[in-house]
Amino acid sequence: MITVMLGPPGTGKGTISQYLKEKHNFNHISSGDLIRAEIKSGSDLGNEIKQIVSEGKLVNDDIVLKLVQNAVSGVDNSNIVLDGFPRTSEQAGMLDNVLLEINKKLDLVIDLESENNVIIKRLTMRRTCPECNKIYGIDVPPKEDNKCDLCGVDLIQRADDKEEVVRDRLNTYRELTAPLIKYYEGKGILKVVDGNRPLEQIYKDVSEIIENSCI
Ligand code: AMP
Repeated sequence: MITVMLGPPGTGKGTISQYLKEKHNFNHISSGDLIRAEIKSGSDLGNEIKQIVSEGKLVNDDIVLKLVQNAVSGVDNSNIVLDGFPRTSEQAGMLDNVLLEINKKLDLVIDLESENNVIIKRLTMRRTCPECNKIYGIDVPPKEDNKCDLCGVDLIQRADDKEEVVRDRLNTYRELTAPLIKYYEGKGILKVVDGNRPLEQIYKDVSEIIENSCI
């Protein structure tokens, strides 16, 4: 089953995707993680996109597509959750074509919704492990202050989680990504989930959606 996690930055798409990985055997492909890994590798491409990402702007569609396509071809089962991709109408069209080429189709889009003020608070308080990318925040605090539970290293604040950048990212989302909601609604594969609730309730809804979509 191919699933896309849609929704503004900071609604918990990464956390829910991890849940799908652990509980429902999905491969989690996060375009943001792929981009950050490329930057961390110090490659020419990574250096080229570093500034764009730290300003909260979108990376060129073709570059993101290539990274996502490589990741999709590298996974060995048919359950995939795409987190953060597509983010523009052009990318949605590209995804349809890529899936068509490999005889697959997009089965489900989960739109995780939240309000701007909640998102700004959540993102500016968010910390990430620079080693394994595990995300910590209000809902999921680390066991030891500012240390990753898994790697033990100091957590960091992403440059694009600073408040002004978060506001720009939200504007970009509303302008370029939100139109995809209508696109997927029109295809009859959209499910909206209220991201403004305790994680356990969101997990329960998401599990029900996955189980009903598998029938
Ligand atoms: P994320 O972790 O999904 O919030 O992504 C972090 C940053 O990576 C974004 O603010 C963009 O700069 C870049 N990025 C991630 N996914 C995409 C995408 N699908 N298209 C363009 N840029 C992206």
